[in-house]
Amino acid sequence: MRIRILNRFWNLRFAPNLANRGDCDPPDKRGKEIRVSSALKGEERLEVIVHELVHSASWHIDEKYAERFARDAARVLWRLGYRED
Ligand SMILES: [Zn+2]
Repeated sequence: MRIRILNRFWNLRFAPNLANRGDCDPPDKRGKEIRVSSALKGEERLEVIVHELVHSASWHIDEKYAERFARDAARVLWRLGYRED
């Protein structure tokens, strides 16, 4: 899925066998991607998507900040009822 973050485009895809739960190519890379483990489900999947979006929007942000923000944002969205059908 082609997504736009702050007027830059990434291909977001779900992939098996990633080294991490997700990763994000730097904003200046051509053909950049965000990859999220296809093994994830539910709130954890939402958390990792948000986490990688934080990296795409703020490439030099502290990893701990990304982790904490994504965990909290995913919890709020999950409590509000956001789900994938
Ligand atoms: Zn990260």
